[in-house]
Amino acid sequence: MKLIFLGAPGAGKGTHATRVKQDYNLPHISTGDIFRANIKGGTPLGLLAKSYIDKGALVPDSVVIDIVKDRLQQADCAGGYILDGFPRTVAQADALSTFADIDAVINLILDGEVIVERVAGRRVCDCGETYNVATLGGKTTCAKCGKPLYQREDDNPQTVRNRLAVYDRETSPLLAYYRQKGLLRDVDSNGLTIDEVYAKIKAILDTL
Ligand code: AMP
Repeated sequence: MKLIFLGAPGAGKGTHATRVKQDYNLPHISTGDIFRANIKGGTPLGLLAKSYIDKGALVPDSVVIDIVKDRLQQADCAGGYILDGFPRTVAQADALSTFADIDAVINLILDGEVIVERVAGRRVCDCGETYNVATLGGKTTCAKCGKPLYQREDDNPQTVRNRLAVYDRETSPLLAYYRQKGLLRDVDSNGLTIDEVYAKIKAILDTL
């Protein structure tokens, strides 16, 4: 299965992609995670990416496309993969179509107010787990690996506003793009628990 998870920042792409990775044994390719690992490692790519990420802007298409193209050529992607956070522009989607045959695009739908609240409360771990202060009960370490949780620098209110504007302008045209190709699968997450949303996603994946 070759999947794309689409949705605004905070819509649940990472959370559900992590579950699908475990249940379907597929590599989870998050371009945001790739950039954050490079920023942490102080690589030239990390330095470049940071200058965009800190503003809530997109890293240039040519940079992201090359990274994903290389990653999809690795052996573990032969049986499928989950793309999380890519593509984010029509140019990226056009490029992807030249080197990948996508089976489905899972579109996670969530109201704007819930998104803002969710991103403000998001806490993450370097192992990839994501939490929310609303359900952490005051805990400050990861339940999976015990490392300290922290807030992403780009989850501050001003940067989140920019990221949402960028989503509307650059990424939301992908909904029509993939709907037209018959690949878009809407998952309305409003008012649902994580388990309920995941059940909807599984129901879709089990038909592929
Ligand atoms: P994410 O973890 O998916 O929210 O991504 C964090 C940030 O990384 C985004 O706000 C962008 O600055 C950058 N980024 C991640 N994926 C892409 C992409 N496909 N195209 C451009 N920039 C990206």
